[in-house]
Amino acid sequence: MASQAMRLAMVRKLEAQGVKDPGVLQALRTVERHRFVDSALANQAYEDTSLPIGMGQTISKPNVVARMLELLCQGRDQPLGRVLEIGTGCGYQAALLSHLSREVYSMERVRSLHERARENLRGMQLSNLHLLFGDGMPGFPRGAPYAAIIAAAGGEGLPSAWVDQLAVGGRLVAPAIGDAGQQRLIVIDKTRTGVVRSELEAVMFVPLKSGIA
Ligand code: SAH
Repeated sequence: MASQAMRLAMVRKLEAQGVKDPGVLQALRTVERHRFVDSALANQAYEDTSLPIGMGQTISKPNVVARMLELLCQGRDQPLGRVLEIGTGCGYQAALLSHLSREVYSMERVRSLHERARENLRGMQLSNLHLLFGDGMPGFPRGAPYAAIIAAAGGEGLPSAWVDQLAVGGRLVAPAIGDAGQQRLIVIDKTRTGVVRSELEAVMFVPLKSGIA
């Protein structure tokens, strides 16, 4: 099957670039990325590139997705507990998360993308993945506390609701404007004694927006 060979080749490239987490690699081998993009772009689905998914939004590059998932899973040999994803987009990363976690809540503020993601995920039997339509800025208190929160859209800062909804021992990975005014990956660890923030490499994500569309 051609798409499987292309997917395995994509994962080998990611491994060569340093992705190591066995769970993340296995999820990347399993989830069929070509099912999440427009059929006209399906031939590019396994290249390390971001692709348009409609409404001015993009599916992130596989190496950025892998990097963020590795950061979420770092230091754990068990699946993650409950996870909140802000920005379902086409649903690709949500599908990966469903392989890495016990329960996933994924929110999208653009109704047509939320519906498209539902369509893309139909038939994949990911019964622990819950797609929610709404603004993710206030998080999703009903599912809190979360072992992990991940966002695929970046704002000026990180909404305090996300940090509030993180469990002790939990981790948040999201793009936001860093100290030097450039968008960077931010990691927040919630410990018993407080919150530890790390700024990592520069990234380029679509903007985090308020309200629904
Ligand atoms: N992980 C996605 C990436 C989608 S791009 C994928 O695999 O396709 C980021 C998404 O975040 C966009 O769909 C955008 O509409 C959404 N978004 C931006 N601000 C948001 C908010 N406040 N709440 C929920 N979704 C938001």
